[in-house]
Amino acid sequence: MNFCSQCGAPLTRRVPPGDTHPRDVCDHCGTIHYENPKVVVGCLPLWENQLLLCRRGIEPRVGFWTLPAGFMENDETTAQGAARETLEEACAQVEIGALQALVNIPHINQVHLFYRGQLQSAAHGAGEESLETALFQETDIPWDDLAFRSVRFAMECYYADLRRGTFQVHTLDLGPL
Ligand SMILES: [Zn+2]
Repeated sequence: MNFCSQCGAPLTRRVPPGDTHPRDVCDHCGTIHYENPKVVVGCLPLWENQLLLCRRGIEPRVGFWTLPAGFMENDETTAQGAARETLEEACAQVEIGALQALVNIPHINQVHLFYRGQLQSAAHGAGEESLETALFQETDIPWDDLAFRSVRFAMECYYADLRRGTFQVHTLDLGPL
């Protein structure tokens, strides 16, 4: 950020008094522009024994398969965000259930949350950001063509819990490859 979004004056990068991190500070109006991690919310949309995946139509990782997920918006809960992303990316109505996985990715300043979700019907289709959508049995999942490590983790946790017969929240901290 180069200019203050409040008053338009140039910004200085420095540690404000009493703070611990460098911030973009406006010496004109006094605003400190804090930057904090972004929350990505998504779900594992389930229909009978199948999982709904989307093939990405946008970068990054265009052409690879993913769970419906995206940046949380203001004025929504994480579960509402996960349902909204499922509707936008997979044109599917889902009832969000319990949290399956939480993934910290500090080097890109993101936290990813994945819920289990119950599809309200088998209807689905490619939204704006998807090339195609499909329901997969576990044995048919394109494990080698998944878009993101967090998505893989959430899916692996889900199937491991399913086999064990008990579900819990799994957490993972990811670093650079
Ligand atoms: Zn300012």
